[in-house]
Amino acid sequence: MAKDDEKKIFLTEDEMPRQWYNINPDLPRPLDPPLNPQNGKPLTPEDLSILFPMELIKQEMSMERFIDIPEELLKIYRIWRPSPLVRAKELEDFLGTPARIYYKNESVSPPGSHKPNTAVAQAYYNKMEGVKELTTETGAGQWGSALSFACSLLDMKLTVYMVRCSYDQKPYRKLMMKIWGAECIASPSGTTESGRAILKDDPDCSGSLGMAISEAVEVAAKSGGKIKYSLGSVLNHVLMHQTIVGLETKKQLEKAGVEPDILIGCVGGGSNFAGFAFPFVPDKMAGRDIRIIAVEPIACPTLTKGPFAYDYGDTAKMAPIAKMYTLGHDFVPKPIHAGGLRYHGMAPQVSLLVNEKIIEAVALPQNPVFKAAVDFANTEGIIPAPETAHAIKTVVDEALKCKETGEEKVIVFNFSGHGHFDLGAYDAYMSGKLEDYEYPDEKIKESLKNLPKF
Ligand SMILES: *Cc1c(COP(=O)(O)O)cnc(C)c1O
Repeated sequence: MAKDDEKKIFLTEDEMPRQWYNINPDLPRPLDPPLNPQNGKPLTPEDLSILFPMELIKQEMSMERFIDIPEELLKIYRIWRPSPLVRAKELEDFLGTPARIYYKNESVSPPGSHKPNTAVAQAYYNKMEGVKELTTETGAGQWGSALSFACSLLDMKLTVYMVRCSYDQKPYRKLMMKIWGAECIASPSGTTESGRAILKDDPDCSGSLGMAISEAVEVAAKSGGKIKYSLGSVLNHVLMHQTIVGLETKKQLEKAGVEPDILIGCVGGGSNFAGFAFPFVPDKMAGRDIRIIAVEPIACPTLTKGPFAYDYGDTAKMAPIAKMYTLGHDFVPKPIHAGGLRYHGMAPQVSLLVNEKIIEAVALPQNPVFKAAVDFANTEGIIPAPETAHAIKTVVDEALKCKETGEEKVIVFNFSGHGHFDLGAYDAYMSGKLEDYEYPDEKIKESLKNLPKF
């Protein structure tokens, strides 16, 4: 069998990368500095130290290109890493495309997504600095379950604020958190000041990631250093921990003897996409002809419709202000099913690279996205998470373009997670009840009136 005809390309545990990649020193221009939400001044390490351990703050602001992965973490990564790179030959045949399609399968982690790559790292650095308890928020429940898994491995306590509509739609993610020993609370809740303020105005509020972040941040900020906060996306240290995905993918493509023409990933806060694609950005900036595409839902069109502006990271204006594409911090999305793609903002590094036209962005309605997901399930066999399905739909579109032109492009995408706990969304799709909701321009304009005035 020719090298590039193999179904799965594996790395041995010895071949697993021993460093993460930090894109900050390689950005085409420096990031606009993040600001303190109270006074609008550039954020200092001390500002962040109420929420995060020092080592993660150092990584957040680091200008080192490569950062060593501690030995103990490499050991934990071996539970599910290195993950396979898979040739989607059955999907290619189904589409009748001359393109070659590969996917990096991050659904093989115990919680079923890429998120544990940073969850175990964050829990580890907190533990090293003597922290015994964490808080966080979760949308669809993927991040909450990933951090619960990490805290269980590292013997730490965890409270998760879960967006109300997902809490009601996804009981099984809640149970996973419970099995791994975490407490899960529906947000907005009566347990925090910010939650009570929201419920007073709107007792039936379906919640948002911004609101859940406010609650989790408040608990950590008021704990006097005892409890720290952990975020599953957006921040630089999170993107950096995820680069193990792209670094492995690079090695695997080399093993298969192929060079990628198009890289595709879905974006919520940007972490799986960045982790997968950032290690290839220096190649592109050095002149390699490679397209890098970020895919978002039209119900939450941050990169395609939001302005590139300073905005708060959360609804209650407690999280740092960052320059990013944003729909406004008071954006409340419709309860579309791709719960992980509903954040109002986007990682500043991803935002800057889109602004510099190094990364392309597309927005998709969810019915065609689910059609592509079902086609994938019936060819390659795995049922994708609704978030991942956004990437798959774009892969299908690009592969069909190749069919028209006869080009044998190599398309590689990040299979960010499986959809075993998202079957309610598949049910809605298969019974024709899924709405293609497009977020209205007027609502974006309205939210943007409240951008910070510093
Ligand atoms: C959370 C999640 C996403 C979106 O989050 P990012 O930080 O943008 O990666 C995408 N896919 C899956 C499976 C997820 O769980």
